[in-house]
Amino acid sequence: MLEIKAKVQPAVATTAAAPSLYAEHRKVYPKAVQGTVRRVKWLILALCLGLYYVVPWLRFDRGPGAPDQAVLVDMHNARLYFFWIEIWPQEVYYLTGLLILGAIGLFMATSLFGRVWCGFTCPQTVWTDLFMQVERWVQGDRNARIKLDAQPWGFGKLVKKAITHALWLLIAAATGGAWIMYFADAPTITRQMLEGTAGNQVYFFFALFTATTYVLAGWAREQVCTYMCPWPRFQAAMLDENSLVVTYREWRGEPRGKARAQGIGDCVDCAACVNVCPTGIDIRDGIQMECIGCGLCIDACDDIMQRLDRPRGLVGFETWTNLAASTAAAAPCAPGPERQRAGMAARRVPRFIRARTLVYLAVLTTVAGVMLGSYLMRTTLTLAVIRERAPLFVRLSDGAVRNAYVLKLANKLRDETQYALVLEGPRGLTITVQDAPLDAQGHPLIGSRADGITQWRALITAPPGLHLPESVGVHFRLLNAEGHEATSTGSVFLGPKP
Ligand code: SF4
Ligand code: SF4
Repeated sequence: MLEIKAKVQPAVATTAAAPSLYAEHRKVYPKAVQGTVRRVKWLILALCLGLYYVVPWLRFDRGPGAPDQAVLVDMHNARLYFFWIEIWPQEVYYLTGLLILGAIGLFMATSLFGRVWCGFTCPQTVWTDLFMQVERWVQGDRNARIKLDAQPWGFGKLVKKAITHALWLLIAAATGGAWIMYFADAPTITRQMLEGTAGNQVYFFFALFTATTYVLAGWAREQVCTYMCPWPRFQAAMLDENSLVVTYREWRGEPRGKARAQGIGDCVDCAACVNVCPTGIDIRDGIQMECIGCGLCIDACDDIMQRLDRPRGLVGFETWTNLAASTAAAAPCAPGPERQRAGMAARRVPRFIRARTLVYLAVLTTVAGVMLGSYLMRTTLTLAVIRERAPLFVRLSDGAVRNAYVLKLANKLRDETQYALVLEGPRGLTITVQDAPLDAQGHPLIGSRADGITQWRALITAPPGLHLPESVGVHFRLLNAEGHEATSTGSVFLGPKP
């Protein structure tokens, strides 16, 4: 496990005697940066946002009577639709499986590549990146924004700030609106919201998610990662000396100093890496909890190195093992090309296959395999039998004993079906189902409506003189038109003590 430094913010003294525990917020003004990492981040941002906003509008034909939205959480009918997959409430374990897969996948990605989730795909990072870009378009880059904030309020400042916040609110509203569309038919709910005919809860959640996006991405930004998110607190447990993390190659950069000074390392102390950092930290201080691993400081430093005609990679994705090896190899050399060559030659290809990644892979494969297997073996018809308990049994006037049961037939197909109900148990027991016709063999015919649960009330009767134990097992079998068993389940028949 790697040690991660938590930056201690200077406490602001409220009184001479008692320093405040509240750390004053320093506004961060990240500078725009160009480079490979930035391009990858733009690509991921476009992909994530594109998927988020477009997916509710995708259609998928499930047949008559079924929603045609490809991805839909149908709260009203208690269904979750994902293209051809339909999850019922009793199959919520699939969601549990997905959460486990997500968590283990995150652990594995962290142990291999550090905080790639935080730096590239976390919604907080993606939306904050978008909001910052909007801010740059309207108010200018870092220096212009610092200058604007320092200015007294005037017409120009007011207009720029108003446009920024209006655009932020627009994006936030689109985000909140898109979230609602995952829970209702997208075209219908959009029309209803525009006409003002949607339900109050729709407007409530729309306002809630709009406000959340606006506040978290526009105002809170890096404070969400630093103070609110629990992940940075325990992600260190997933990192080891072979994890790739964004690192300053101290062996090459130190001692830092002016570019033309003699006997110094490659770091010219230009602060370009600090100025682009969305959390406002200095990567040269080592691995820190505030570092989200976005890699923008890599692009910033590579740009400086290129301008100085020095090799890129003073800041880069590096393992702790390689860092130690490079440091040892470079130590005897004086700053300059020789030291660079010695340090870089000591590096080895990171070890991706190691005990912890294999364990994560094994858990991932097992959970995914179990989920896939259970999905492929999933039945489209289930029968649940609930015995009525009050009373446990009824003795009829002729001495017969009767038990009552509620049968719940869940049909996951789009067609109505009918089955013959056959009782298996001690000879002499008979079964009747209220309101159900009988087939040619005298078995009750019970149907199940399409894509729903149908409930029936069944009575099992033991005729007078049939001697049974106090509790005896019975089996309910459903036979289809061809006489094959569609599903079955067991229960018990209770009677008086012999
Ligand atoms: S230090 Fe570098 S990798 Fe870490 S958050 Fe700042 S810019 Fe991103
Ligand atoms: S950008 Fe590179 S050269 Fe400039 S301060 Fe950061 S590490 Fe040093």
